[in-house]
This record gives sequence, structure tokens and C-alpha cells, in this order.
Amino acid sequence: MSNPTLQAVRGMNDILPDEAGLWLWFEEVVRDWLEAYGYRNIRMPLVEPTALFKRAIGEVTDIVEKEMYSFRDDLNGDELTLRPEGTASCVRAVLQHNLLYNAPQRLYYSGPMFRHERPQKGRYRQFHQIGVEAMGFAGPDIDAEQIVMCARLWKKLGIRDVALQINTLGDVAARQRHREKLIAYFEQHKDVLDADGQRRLYSNPLRILDTKNPAMQELVAAAPKLMDELDEDAITHFEAVQAILQQHGIAFEINPRLVRGLDYYNRTVFEWVTTRLGAQGTICAGGRFDGLIEQIGGKPAPACGFAMGVERLLALLQEDGMQNPAAPLDVYVVHQGEQARIQAWRVAEDLRDGGLRVLLHCGGGSFKSQMKKADASAAVCAAIIGDDEVAANVVMLKPLRSGGEQQRVGLDDLQHKVRELIK
Ligand code: ATP
Ligand code: MG
Repeated sequence: MSNPTLQAVRGMNDILPDEAGLWLWFEEVVRDWLEAYGYRNIRMPLVEPTALFKRAIGEVTDIVEKEMYSFRDDLNGDELTLRPEGTASCVRAVLQHNLLYNAPQRLYYSGPMFRHERPQKGRYRQFHQIGVEAMGFAGPDIDAEQIVMCARLWKKLGIRDVALQINTLGDVAARQRHREKLIAYFEQHKDVLDADGQRRLYSNPLRILDTKNPAMQELVAAAPKLMDELDEDAITHFEAVQAILQQHGIAFEINPRLVRGLDYYNRTVFEWVTTRLGAQGTICAGGRFDGLIEQIGGKPAPACGFAMGVERLLALLQEDGMQNPAAPLDVYVVHQGEQARIQAWRVAEDLRDGGLRVLLHCGGGSFKSQMKKADASAAVCAAIIGDDEVAANVVMLKPLRSGGEQQRVGLDDLQHKVRELIK
């Protein structure tokens, strides 16, 4: 009996070469964009102590309550978790290495995140984020800059139909007042609350506003507004963010129900949403988290950041008909005979020395079958080497895309002639 084929874990995807081209292109665009704003790359482990996420994200949140891949390391008993998001790890790394010692930091990271959710279009158990964090900045300018920079990325990527929603969550005192009013309000409507809502009523009533349960939408819409509790400083901050957005012609909608699924946010929060990906329409989300650094054990420092979902962004691009950029290849080297093989290796290495992308035929076969493979490759031309060519120190150079004539080219001239063809 043959072994059954093993499958990837549900909700965790392979990105095959045909699609990976689009990822590579995207990552390059993103990197240029981040560097244009002075953000520097940071790389954290995929696994962190479970306590980090509990402390940072909040015990009574969807992520910590039901989405984390947590396990005990049998070798030493440590409680560990596959990171469900990057902000907590990033703050942990910044504190551990004292990066905020004498300068604020603009940082970014990218990579897989893990959440045990129900897999569907735009929602996976391993998904990828680009995360951007500015730490040590208190003013509204950095919040606005992060939003302006998102708008630039959408433009660069040619993404339309994405709308900006913003809100402010105020500061601790306002949230406390709001919390008390929310509890009083939901207590009066206990019968409408679902199980999650009942459970969170006293532990985290704000989270009830984040519910996706259609039966609770009306209740939630009429709930007391945090807006009505805001302190002067938070209002001024929020207005300053809006003013900068207006100066840059960035349209936004204030959505008082935007509370975000993680506890650490305060003041400005924002989401970029499209209607084109069904229920999974949020492609980018973030906000200010002035309390988090202290909560993780650092000296208090303000901060603001956001993360975007790469799968959702790429899905949008694909819906717009974006093609996977073909794997770039300049030359396919075809050869037959012992001397020709040795020469072909040399020619291929020389072309690569000159910066060209070269595929050397491996596995033998007739000229005819090798040429078929060359045609099927994305290469611009074929360099053909047989015993005659070795003897004369030349190669036959055949354009594969332009339909031009095959020509006999001296080895010294090859680099130059190939460059003419790929222009
Ligand atoms: P949602 O409301 O869709 O569950 P979220 O508020 O949990 O999103 P964040 O924690 O803010 O998401 O993560 C930032 C971005 O990462 C999201 O806006 C989304 O684009 C992406 N993202 C989050 N969870 C997933 C997932 N399971 N699969 C794919 N992308 C995701
Ligand atoms: Mg979620």
C-alpha cells in the first residue's frame, strides 16, 4: 500500500512559484515605500512567551480567548505561542534591546502571523502582515503621516475603492467613564446580548461594540458613545489628525463604532476598508497605543502603528486583473556533446558574471527537445552550443521572442549581443 499524501494544515497556504512572483514584486514596492518614509526593518521570532500576548493584546479579546496557537514546550515546560500579530513582539524587542534609549524609532516588519480562525476567502490561519510601528512619538503628526503613507501605497499599487475610517478611543479616564455607561446600558438590554456579550459585559464591555453578530447591531448602534466622554486633549489631537488628512486631500469617514479587536489602542484608530472582498474587507488597520510600552514593562512612551493583510491586498490586485510578473530570464543555454557541455558551463557562468539571468539546460536530450524547452521558458534568447561552435569559439544566438534571425556570435561579443536583444 502506498503512503497517503500529506496535506498542509487547513488554513495555511502554499504560495506556488506562479503566484510568488506577485509577492516578490509587492514586497519590493513595499520596501521602497517604507524606506521613502525612513522606516527601518526589524525581524522578530515567530514564537514568543504566551504571557506577552496575554499582557499586550488583552485576556478578553477574540485573539487571546480563541485564536492563539499556544503550546507547552515539552523540553522545558515553557508556555509558548505562535505570534498572532507583530506589535507585541516588536515592543518586546525594542524594550529588550533598549532601542528607545535616546531616539524615537520608526520600524517595520513583515512575515507570517497565526490565528486559529475559520478559514474562508481572505481569512487564513497562517497569513502575512506588513507591520509599521513608530515609537516615542506623542503628537498627531505621526498618526497622520502613517495614514498619508498608506494612501501613497494604494496609489503606487493602483488600488482604488478603498475607504478610510477613523475614530478616537480617547484616554484612560474617558474610557473608564464610557465603560461605566456601557455596562449600565447593556445591563438594561441583557436579553439581546449573545453569549460573548454576556461574558464580556463586566470584563470588557467595549469589546461588545466590535461584535459581528447581526442580531446585536441595532443594540450596539444605539449604545453610549465614547465621543461624548472625550477629554479636551484627545479632541485636539483627533482634530489635528483630521486637519492634516484634509490638507492632503485624503477623504475619511469618522466611524464611532470603530474600536479595533485589540485592547492596547487609545486615541486615533483607523481602518482601510474595501467593499470588494466580501466580509473580509479590512486591508489595513492600526492606531495609537500609548499605554502598551509601559504595560510590557518599559518606561512609558507613546506609539502608533498599523498592519496590513498581504493576502487581502494581493487578492484586490488580482481582482483588478494584475498578472503575475513572469520569472525574468535572459538566456537559455542549449548544448550537446562533451566539449560543448564544458563550454556551455563556462558561457553560462560568464554571462552571469555580467549580471544576466541564465538557465543552463540540464538533463541532456536532442537539440530539438532542448529548443522546445527554451521556447517554453520565459527566456529572451537561446545560446546554442555544439561541437562546431566549440571548435570555432562561437555560439549561435537565437532570439526567442522577437522572431529575429539566429546569428553566429564570438564569445567576446556574446554579452553585448544578448544585451541588445533584451533592451
Ligand atoms: P478582522 O476584523 O478581519 O478579523 P482584525 O481586526 O482581527 O481583522 P488586525 O489584527 O487588525 O485584524 O490585523 C491587521 C490586518 O491583518 C487586517 O486588517 C487584515 O487585513 C489582516 N488579517 C487579520 N486576520 C487575518 C486572517 N486571519 N487572514 C488574513 N488576513 C488577516
Ligand atoms: Mg480578527
